[in-house]
Amino acid sequence: MASEIDPETAGISPQKPDDLSHPEHAAPKSLALAIGLTVLWPGAGYVYFGRKVIGILTMIIMPFVIFLMPQVIVLCWAVMIIDLVILNSKAKREVEALATKPCPHCAEKVQMAAKVCRYCGRDI
Ligand SMILES: [Zn+2]
Repeated sequence: MASEIDPETAGISPQKPDDLSHPEHAAPKSLALAIGLTVLWPGAGYVYFGRKVIGILTMIIMPFVIFLMPQVIVLCWAVMIIDLVILNSKAKREVEALATKPCPHCAEKVQMAAKVCRYCGRDI
């Protein structure tokens, strides 16, 4: 796939998704930390991922659920961890989308800071 070419090897842009200019807005969250939080206190991983309402509700409700039916905890973890993995991949795509723009000549996605398109080689 063409989009997997490393921009540095292509010699075009030094910018990577990791060092975006808006770190607070688009900083990639740690999936491992989110899962850790979820295991410690179901719902905390959602809050960490920015889903505050559902996260806080889950954090309030889950202790009661676990107290009444401790056996459901494994199921809850499984569902939440799958959900967090999906949220994480969405967030990654958003970060990628913020770091790229379409080339005006060939419409391929190129790095935001690129001066030359890595696909068609024309100036942007
Ligand atoms: Zn192009």
